[in-house]
Amino acid sequence: MERPSVIHKTVRAGDVAPHWQDYEGERRRFSWDEARKALSGLPGGGINIGFEAVDRHLNTNVKDRVALRFVARNQPALDLSYAELARQTNRFANVLEGLGIQKGAHLFVLSGRLPELYIAVLGALKKGIVVTPMFSAFGPEPVTTRINLGDGQVLVTTDVLYQRKIKQLRQQMPSLRYVLLIAEEGGLTHEPGTLDLGQLMRQASDAFTTVNTGAEDPALLHFTSGTTGTPKGALHVHGAVVTHFCTGRYALDLHTQDRFWCTADPGWVTGTSYGIIAPLLQGVTSIIDREEYDAERWYSLLAEERISVWYTAPTALRMLMKSGKELAQKLKYPALRFIASVGEPLNPEAVWWGQEVLGLPIHDNWWQTETGGIMIANTPAFDIKPGSMGRPLPGVDAYIVEHLEAEGDALNVRVIEAPDVEGELALRGGWPSMFRGYLNNEARYKKCFVDDLYLTGDLARRDAEGYFWFVGRADDVIKSAGHLIGPFEVESVLMEHSAVAEAGVIGKPDPVVGEVVKAFVSLKDGCVANEMLRMDIMAHARKRLGAAVAPKEIAFLPTLPRTRSGKIMRRLLKARELGLPEGDTSTLEAGA
Ligand code: ATP
Ligand code: MG
Repeated sequence: MERPSVIHKTVRAGDVAPHWQDYEGERRRFSWDEARKALSGLPGGGINIGFEAVDRHLNTNVKDRVALRFVARNQPALDLSYAELARQTNRFANVLEGLGIQKGAHLFVLSGRLPELYIAVLGALKKGIVVTPMFSAFGPEPVTTRINLGDGQVLVTTDVLYQRKIKQLRQQMPSLRYVLLIAEEGGLTHEPGTLDLGQLMRQASDAFTTVNTGAEDPALLHFTSGTTGTPKGALHVHGAVVTHFCTGRYALDLHTQDRFWCTADPGWVTGTSYGIIAPLLQGVTSIIDREEYDAERWYSLLAEERISVWYTAPTALRMLMKSGKELAQKLKYPALRFIASVGEPLNPEAVWWGQEVLGLPIHDNWWQTETGGIMIANTPAFDIKPGSMGRPLPGVDAYIVEHLEAEGDALNVRVIEAPDVEGELALRGGWPSMFRGYLNNEARYKKCFVDDLYLTGDLARRDAEGYFWFVGRADDVIKSAGHLIGPFEVESVLMEHSAVAEAGVIGKPDPVVGEVVKAFVSLKDGCVANEMLRMDIMAHARKRLGAAVAPKEIAFLPTLPRTRSGKIMRRLLKARELGLPEGDTSTLEAGA
């Protein structure tokens, strides 16, 4: 079906007014120093993420609003108000104080999306402790590696996860001084060498004065997704909170009265920056689903929890698309007014699906663990071009650069001024949530910069109107008969076929043309893989892309290998295809 290339601004009549409408003007007026004034800061010029997210609201009406609402199957919802969250995080900070944990020490959390996880993260930040939430489905190895890399002194986890993952390897984590256990339904087994978090919390005072952290003090250690190799530990500082605040308004259009659902787990940067910090900064109510993905459940949450702003990921959207329109259309979503997505390229097909099925397009945005916050986005301030990741937010300067010859290891790049040219996406340093280093890997960190330009490792192009279009990761680009082929373009075309649910494309070495395009696809529910379908998909791709770019081979897979944060792991598709070692699979989704 032919569709227009633009979706016009998406504010519905009667909705709250969006935070901004004048893209150019806002960018001109914006400065990070001015932006910081919207936050309260600490006496003496300090700034602290935990304080801004929680305690800043205690002098306003927001204090009685629900900050976090936890929902789970077969259990009543649990609501924590901002005032209650302040008391609980104070208690947790006092627990750390009582254990003698000093500012700058590292704390890890390994737990499902339980209230204790959120309280521990925010309480530790208030105490000046550096925090890393980990995905609870990680196996013992990735957990140990991360704790050792970060010199973790404290681990907050559940009794069950301790038994399953930590106990056996405890001796291999020499820095770990304390393990604080969260009791689940079964109570606590009181393992030797562990402490009962519940008991410590009950004994602790609920009054605490936030430690005076400065903007450059470390706050969060986040690991990258491991899509292209071994996950890297990116260090972030308290000053990042200014980015979280601004992007919550510019890219997610959060207003105090919103009910917000970020579907990312806090084990990933999205689940921390936008599943914990950014919504609290705006005083909104966040809905936190403790359960795993389930299409029917997700639709009913959107409807019954009256979600107004929804932040999700392409992988989730593709799974919803796979389960068919009818399921979505059983319910109505009158409260929903803004949908955004991050993590992978968002195929135009998914943007249109939002428009057709939920009545709203999906606003794609782009950022990385390293950038700490959203950098390029589709926003309420301008039209959407489906397939584009949008335009740089105020305070963010993005460029397309080409690599030039340089001596030895040195990098040399040139900014490409002309529109519509593919090159590496680069950002000019200076935004507050920029990472300050890869832990224990200074050399890798240095390789990301040429002067004050940060090189993202992603390829993109910018059009004449300043919209950025993702081409592929530098590692994934396919070189075939002199063409550079971005996997995203090919995958998006495959996704247009009515039977295709997901597509991952790789370059397969070929003696004649260098590499040929090979596609792996999984099919929508009810579709059957057979030769006729393969030919049909192939014909569709040829028609849309031409013979040089269309896949030469298409293989059907039940699902594609994905990271736990939901990204298609093309390097694994390639390694399996070529019979090469799979490399680091610590973040690979189970069963993939
Ligand atoms: P690793 O660095 O360990 O290989 P990763 O890059 O997947 O893993 P993240 O920091 O979680 O780790 O992901 C950031 C990357 O995700 C970006 O560099 C980009 O490749 C991809 N990405 C994120 N959002 C988008 C988007 N909207 N469109 C296209 N790609 C995106
Ligand atoms: Mg990366």
